[in-house]
Amino acid sequence: MTLRFASIGSGSQGNATLVEKYDTCLLIDCGFSFTQVQQRLARLGRRADDLTAILVTHEHSDHIRGVATLAGKCNIPVWMTPGTAAQIDISGIPKLQLFNCHEPFIINDLQVNPYPVPHDAREPCQYVFTDGDSRFGLLTDTGCSTPHIEASLSGCDALMLECNHDSGMLIRGTYPQPLKDRIGGRYGHLSNKQSMDLLSCLDCSRIQHIVAAHLSEKNNTPYLAQQALSQPLDCRPEWVGVADQEAGLPWREIV
Ligand SMILES: [Zn+2]
Ligand SMILES: [Zn+2]
Repeated sequence: MTLRFASIGSGSQGNATLVEKYDTCLLIDCGFSFTQVQQRLARLGRRADDLTAILVTHEHSDHIRGVATLAGKCNIPVWMTPGTAAQIDISGIPKLQLFNCHEPFIINDLQVNPYPVPHDAREPCQYVFTDGDSRFGLLTDTGCSTPHIEASLSGCDALMLECNHDSGMLIRGTYPQPLKDRIGGRYGHLSNKQSMDLLSCLDCSRIQHIVAAHLSEKNNTPYLAQQALSQPLDCRPEWVGVADQEAGLPWREIV
């Protein structure tokens, strides 16, 4: 069986991503209520009891809102950095596992390679997953790229990259100026252009899937994100997947 991934929903209202190999099924973040998670997992043919572990990227509510309830009800271990653990209520989490975001660790059939990112949280990280053959790289909630991010994501078989906003739409939009400054700042979120520039720095020789994620509903459109990410790959915009806030993203297999 191949390494596969899916999104149960992506955007400022809630995020959660699935990565799976054999019986190892990891949920990255859970920004949804328990009821929502159950319904959204069912769409992908999974139940909460199928989850091997939950990995958290950072403490913002669109990523952790449902973590403690889900972990508590289904007795699922939760992995996070010490900085993230210091920022949230961990009392409901039955099995808390802390890790160093510069050191890989193994959960059953998957190796997890965390890496730090610049974002306005205490100790935010993102992840690259591998089964030894294929690599899936996940990156959302970062204000800018770094050489370490580029090194971490280079050579992946599949990528899910934040395309939070179109800079022009953000500037012209109705958000208050401090919020615009935060989103567009070095500890905010990646624009379509920043994500495109990052992708053009990566070794994409193995790439089978590229998915745009964490799109702003106010300051972006799926097509603008697809257009941006298609340019470095010289592919049709439609070939770029989009992880939707409501619909998520169906399973994608790395072959
Ligand atoms: Zn977020
Ligand atoms: Zn965030």
